[in-house]
Amino acid sequence: MSYKVIPFTLGMLGNNVYVVQKENNCVVIDPTFDSENTVDKFIRNNGLHLEAVLLTHGHFDHCGGAGDFQKQGVPVFCNEADDSMCRSASANRWNIKCHDVVPDRHYIEGENIAGDFRFDVMFVPGHTKGGVCLIFDDLLFSGDTLFHGTVGRTDLPGGDYSEMLRSLKRISLLPDNLIVYPGHSDYGMLLGDEKRANPYLNRL
Ligand SMILES: [Zn+2]
Repeated sequence: MSYKVIPFTLGMLGNNVYVVQKENNCVVIDPTFDSENTVDKFIRNNGLHLEAVLLTHGHFDHCGGAGDFQKQGVPVFCNEADDSMCRSASANRWNIKCHDVVPDRHYIEGENIAGDFRFDVMFVPGHTKGGVCLIFDDLLFSGDTLFHGTVGRTDLPGGDYSEMLRSLKRISLLPDNLIVYPGHSDYGMLLGDEKRANPYLNRL
């Protein structure tokens, strides 16, 4: 069964929010603040059933809209190590209005199940302690760990550059044919191209 990805770029920090659809079911990855009137509307207008909200990490710009979906009874998944960030999303240093969220479920490394969706989770600390990559077949949702031509910051709370390098090394061992969907900026790159051209990957 193949997946369809519907990308949205939202909010003042240009967050990529992804709806991953399989038949009439879907999950939302990293609903930022401002997701309600666009992502939620898209899901309703297309008659999709939202099975879960999946967070790549706990920064407020990735989890700030999760509470709106949780209110509708949708479970929110996050890595346990980023729980406290999710719980204090509203206290962000930009003073951007968003909701705190208490995750319902924690990932395990390896295969995870959310409703009808089976996906792999790789723990990739470095940008935050609880950062993860989410892999659905040949789709790699890389959060703020891997971007087109660069990688995520490690100077924010929870960041660690040597952990980031170890995580990038693990990502570089994944197959070349994965299509990369980062948390900001460009998406749809082949992981193989990033391994060749991204200066943080091609020197590992
Ligand atoms: Zn982040």
